[in-house]
Amino acid sequence: MKTIDKIYINGAFVTPKGNERFELISPTTNKKLGEVVLGNTEDVIAAIDAAKRAFKTFSKTTTEERIEYLQRLKASIEKRKQEFVDVMIEEYGGTFQFASASFDNMTNSFNSAIKLLNTYSFKKTMGESEVQMESIGVVGIIIPWNSSNGFICGKLATAIAAGCTVVIKPSEMSAQQTQLISEYFHEAGLPKGVYNIVNGLGEVVGAEISRNPDIAKISFTGSTMVGKMIAKEAVNTMKRVTLELGGKSPNIILDDADLSKAIPMAIAAAFMNSGQACIAATRLLVPENKLEEIKNIVSKTVSNTIVGDPKNQTTAVGPMVSKKQYERVQNYIQTGIDEGAEILVGGLGKPKGLEDGNFVKPTVFVNANNQMRIAREEIFGPVLSIITYKDEEEAIEIANDTTYGLQAYVSSASEDRAYKVASQLQAGRVQINKIGHDPMAPFGGFKQSGIGREFGTLGLEAYLEPRALIR
Ligand code: NAD
Repeated sequence: MKTIDKIYINGAFVTPKGNERFELISPTTNKKLGEVVLGNTEDVIAAIDAAKRAFKTFSKTTTEERIEYLQRLKASIEKRKQEFVDVMIEEYGGTFQFASASFDNMTNSFNSAIKLLNTYSFKKTMGESEVQMESIGVVGIIIPWNSSNGFICGKLATAIAAGCTVVIKPSEMSAQQTQLISEYFHEAGLPKGVYNIVNGLGEVVGAEISRNPDIAKISFTGSTMVGKMIAKEAVNTMKRVTLELGGKSPNIILDDADLSKAIPMAIAAAFMNSGQACIAATRLLVPENKLEEIKNIVSKTVSNTIVGDPKNQTTAVGPMVSKKQYERVQNYIQTGIDEGAEILVGGLGKPKGLEDGNFVKPTVFVNANNQMRIAREEIFGPVLSIITYKDEEEAIEIANDTTYGLQAYVSSASEDRAYKVASQLQAGRVQINKIGHDPMAPFGGFKQSGIGREFGTLGLEAYLEPRALIR
């Protein structure tokens, strides 16, 4: 049984002033893994003070120095893949496949930030003026549990590239993963206070970050509901915000698509990260006249999808992170039934033999329409709704008929046709015939999927404030 009773402030592991404890429960067995002692307001204020002091010198560092720090952070984790994969499987229930990919994203975050620094110019000429891109200040980083260390690396790498110092608040459910990365980052020997990590509850630690006048910007990934609360609070001190929120991504299968490829890819896109992914393609839009053929391929693909112990290398869908998340997914499956959608595969309850953990049956609904709650609300579990359309125009209309706009997918035999459709979708990213990630391209949402962008030049500039010198 592990007890995590330290937080990381000003370059050292310290005992939090807070004394509330939170139990860490295995999603796979529901047995207790350990406990974390939660930080309180006093702890987060100490972390913000440390970051504020460090900012004075860190914001003046050269590009070469920042590259060196990024290389050191990367080196501190890159030989530890196994440990990071293991802890993510144990604590979060992420599958081996997802945890491995997540680790690669962690190390690649540092490469991308270094690449940016090698080409980005912090001084530009605009009009007749010199524009200096200044580090914005102390950044509050608030993140969810579904790829905890991936978010830490992505956001921290960008902040360092921009010369900002940070206070990180991970989800309390990710305490073991946080502990591991904190220990290895400590080995990188960065100047004190550049990054600080405080475990704690959203309404305590997260709320103080949102309120505190010494935080210049918040980079938040999480639900749209909490994102709105943070934005409302942040405006009181005019903090800049980058909000990466929820999604209800459409996946348009055009009538010329090779279904033998497009449908298995659609299932992978819907059930990625066990369905606990903001970019999961949870609305599958298919041509009306291909429905029967598609239903057959979907049923076959889903019955071959391995659900089970996330440690097994072939498992595609692991447990939900918590009992609460399991219940949420069950409630949505019931809602779909009540709304009149028909279960093609999956359904309520746990798969046979997996009763101990928070496992759900990957579920696909047909006879769904875009007005149903299962098609409008983010479920955050492996539940897919198939919706039919008559023509391309209607497909685009349904795809855009959502309050979200994080990601969309299009499959077609013709790149040209897919490109034309993709260019009409209201989504921050559109994947054409693939599920990929471009770390130098912007990522973020239209509409209620967020504000701002991460990654690449736009992501870096979200941590900078322009000053124009007019001479
Ligand atoms: P959440 O919004 O409940 O929590 C996210 C973080 O915010 C946690 O650290 C939490 O403690 C903190 N928080 C909660 N209340 C707060 C408050 N009042 N003030 C400040 N901070 C507070 O999200 P979750 O359940 O941890 O994660 C799932 C959600 O995250 C889903 O909606 C998903 O779509 C979203 N998400 C978005 C992206 C993206 O990049 N757009 C990526 C992954 C997850």
